[in-house]
Amino acid sequence: MKALVVGGGIAGLGTALALADDGWEVEVLEKSPSLRASGYMMNILGPGFAAAETLGLVPWLRDKELGTFTTHLVDREGRRRVTMPASFAEGARGSRSLSLFRGDLEQALFQAASQRVNIRFGMGIATVASSSKGTIATLTDGATVFVDLLVGADGLNSTVRSLTFGDGYRVDKPYVLAACKLPASPSTLPAESATTFIDPGRTMGIVNLSRDKACAFFTYRCEDPDAELDAGVVASLQKHFADVQGGAPEVLSQIAESPSTVYFDRVSQVVMPRWSKGTVVLVGDAAWCTSLFAGYGGSLALHGAQTLREYLSGSRAAAELSARLDAWEKALRPVVEKRQKEFKQSERYFSPTNRAAIRLNELTLRAMLLPGISTLVQRSIQRKKF
Ligand SMILES: Cc1cc2nc3c(=O)[nH]c(=O)nc-3n(C[C@H](O)[C@H](O)[C@H](O)COP(=O)(O)OP(=O)(O)OC[C@H]3O[C@@H](n4cnc5c(N)ncnc54)[C@H](O)[C@@H]3O)c2cc1C
Repeated sequence: MKALVVGGGIAGLGTALALADDGWEVEVLEKSPSLRASGYMMNILGPGFAAAETLGLVPWLRDKELGTFTTHLVDREGRRRVTMPASFAEGARGSRSLSLFRGDLEQALFQAASQRVNIRFGMGIATVASSSKGTIATLTDGATVFVDLLVGADGLNSTVRSLTFGDGYRVDKPYVLAACKLPASPSTLPAESATTFIDPGRTMGIVNLSRDKACAFFTYRCEDPDAELDAGVVASLQKHFADVQGGAPEVLSQIAESPSTVYFDRVSQVVMPRWSKGTVVLVGDAAWCTSLFAGYGGSLALHGAQTLREYLSGSRAAAELSARLDAWEKALRPVVEKRQKEFKQSERYFSPTNRAAIRLNELTLRAMLLPGISTLVQRSIQRKKF
């Protein structure tokens, strides 16, 4: 059985690897000229961790594990308001989880997949015609291919989604988010810790672990995200964070030196009534983006890839696929919808509406750190992992 996977991110490479492990002949198309191994930190938890284990990635990823660290919540002048010790995060995460740079996860998937799968960079898809017998696709170089299964793993702005289902499934939120690995550790921040600044309508987070392990993210509320993206990451961040201390000036000047390494996009969800049609299926952000606020994109992409393999295992003809894709979606949808519904909660955290809300968050954090209560909170976080 042949599969064509469009998109070489976490969902695409994960699906390609999982299907290849099950005997599929797989080709991946990635529109970028090379691996886009950039991005901020990701937590791989619960079934996402189990999928990484099944895909054989955990030993390699353990080497890249960022571990846990102390987090300082600071005010606009960079003065500490609350400190969460590393031990708190460690207790909440448990041992079956990984904290990684997105790029390291993508690199691990690429290394594993490239041994079994043909990955073509600088290549996308132009047309799709699907039936129960398979899919005919035209590639951007004009070639035509016939495959049993076409997987759209081409992210938030999926071309496979538009070509197969039409437009209108992206739900844009009034925010943009910038995230990147930093070229150097910010010298103005304490080492081996994270610094977080939360203000009405905006949040900044800088993780300062060591020279090649520093990263930052910024998010803010805006009425016209497209205008912010058009202005570019340097001008937009300068406009919204120039008044903030706590490492911000140093990080903003690092970003100004290499803006192309920053992931800068709108905060959106993708909400679809169905993830497959005939022998075309969407996986990852293309199908169900829960938003960058939710923080489950990587875990859900891996879990989606691994479960897709399980549901398709043993199929011998394209005609069987449609029913199996339906069964896969039925099983996965409640997990995804639960995370999508959490957007409001994440929004309150990343973009509190007023100072009273910030004060309340701080009081809650302080209460969570009290002896006895912290253990209860850690257990409850562990139980909620997926
Ligand atoms: C460069 C980059 C940096 C990111 N940084 C962060 C971050 O810091 N924090 C965070 O929470 N999330 C980040 N994300 C999003 C995060 O990776 C996803 O939410 C999650 O991993 C789910 O992955 P995905 O594979 O479904 O989508 P994505 O990670 O978006 O991957 C989609 C892939 O498909 C490719 N593609 C798109 N259109 C086409 C096409 N027509 N033909 C062929 N290929 C196509 C893209 O180039 C990309 O490689 C980033 C995504 C990218 C691409």
